[in-house]
Amino acid sequence: MAKFPFFGGDTSRRIAEADSVAVIGLGRFGSSLALELMSAGTEVLGIDLDEDLVQAMNGQLTQVVRADSTKEEALRQLAIDEFDRVVVAIGDDISASILTCSVLLSMNIPVIWAKVVDDRHGLILDQLGVHHVIYPEKDMGRRVAHLVRGAALDYIEVDSGYALVKAAAPNELLGKRLGDTGLRAAYGVTIAAFKRDAEQWRNADADTMLQAGDTILVVGPTASAESFAQLR
Ligand code: ATP
Repeated sequence: MAKFPFFGGDTSRRIAEADSVAVIGLGRFGSSLALELMSAGTEVLGIDLDEDLVQAMNGQLTQVVRADSTKEEALRQLAIDEFDRVVVAIGDDISASILTCSVLLSMNIPVIWAKVVDDRHGLILDQLGVHHVIYPEKDMGRRVAHLVRGAALDYIEVDSGYALVKAAAPNELLGKRLGDTGLRAAYGVTIAAFKRDAEQWRNADADTMLQAGDTILVVGPTASAESFAQLR
């Protein structure tokens, strides 16, 4: 327990009322997700079966509890049924992941996110009705492949076939109003934002004039956005 001296349902209930998320499974993925949520100001109840992990996370999350998430009674005691958002970050033990999701679905948790290790695991959670099934390793592998093959500084495929790419501003756009470059017609992409030196990111518009050394955010169909990022 971090901020609250009392352990158990009452504390969890109080957390559930706030902007809060319960994270089940505090391995590398779950703990990094939980810490990121905390740093963004979200209250986090962390749950794990492993006492050492619970001890290690103690003090870093709003509350950390040792419990077996496959047991409905244990989750009810922690008032998990009062949370609007629960993340199941159990990967290796597929049966524990499936059982946990099944219990959460039977509690009618409005939004359940679950990480999976492979397509078979993902298919089962989809069939159960888990709202968001995430494939961290597969997604990261695909993302890094795009970084490795191209000049993109960062890359996110927003949806299949549509991407957001961070890249250096290409020479041919420098010193011209973006509105005069014919960018959309020529490349099928839009420059959404740009960053100059140590300044903050700024939204780009038709009057934006890029300078050498600027970094840009390009959005568009994946192939177009990627080839645009290759321009020098
Ligand atoms: P990562 O790659 O994120 O470290 P992983 O994919 O190897 O994780 P696991 O090690 O299977 O995933 O699970 C992550 C955490 O979930 C572990 O710390 C484990 O103790 C916890 N966990 C597994 N089963 C349960 C359960 N039934 N109840 C609560 N926690 C569980």
